[in-house]
This record gives sequence, C-alpha cells and structure tokens, in this order.
Amino acid sequence: MSHHGKSRSRHRRDRQPDKQQIEFPQCPLCQKAIRDLTSAITHKESGKPAHFDCILKALRTDNAVQQNEKICYLGKGSFGIVQFREHSAPPRFFIRKRIQYEETEQVPEWRQKPAINLSVR
Ligand SMILES: [Zn+2]
Repeated sequence: MSHHGKSRSRHRRDRQPDKQQIEFPQCPLCQKAIRDLTSAITHKESGKPAHFDCILKALRTDNAVQQNEKICYLGKGSFGIVQFREHSAPPRFFIRKRIQYEETEQVPEWRQKPAINLSVR
C-alpha cells in the first residue's frame, strides 16, 4: 500500500494550449515558457534554461552597472560589463568585467586553452 502522505503541491496553472503538444521549458526567473531555446542561457542556481533577457536582468541587479556601462553577451556563456567612453572622439569601450556565467560544454576539447587567463590588472 502506497499512500502519499504529502501530495506534491503542484500549482494548478493549466493554461497549456491543446493545439500542439509542444512543451516549452519554463524559465526559472519569470516562469514563462522559453520558446527560443537557442538563445536560452543556463540559469546557474537551478541549472535550467532561462531567457537570455532574464539572465541579463539578473546580472544587472547583481552587478552595479554604471550609467555609461552595459552588460553585453560576449559569447560562449560569458557576459561582460562594457564601459563606454563617450567623451573620446571616436567612442571607445572596454570590458570592465568579464562574467563567465555558463559552463561551456560546447567547446571541443581540442580547442580548450589551458586555464591561464590574461589577467589585465
Ligand atoms: Zn524568463
């Protein structure tokens, strides 16, 4: 006899359209469906895919971004706080901080560099 003492409290949010049986993964940050997985970023805390924009928003809250700064996606799961120098004649920018957010599993082994990073300090 198997009796579940605690019924798993599943939130009843049955708003799935019955037209198609496609289930999009739910973003752990905004709880909305992720329709474009190609642009999704793995959410660190949950390990689930999350909207690119939601991760970006979270990064903005976690990192104090100045007025002349912007968080940009640098590729391969890493973001950067890019600082713009608008005062200079040709507008310049540089990456103030690099945030490696996602584990990069897609990088083939032969391409992986030794763990020596350019420490610009
Ligand atoms: Zn989201």
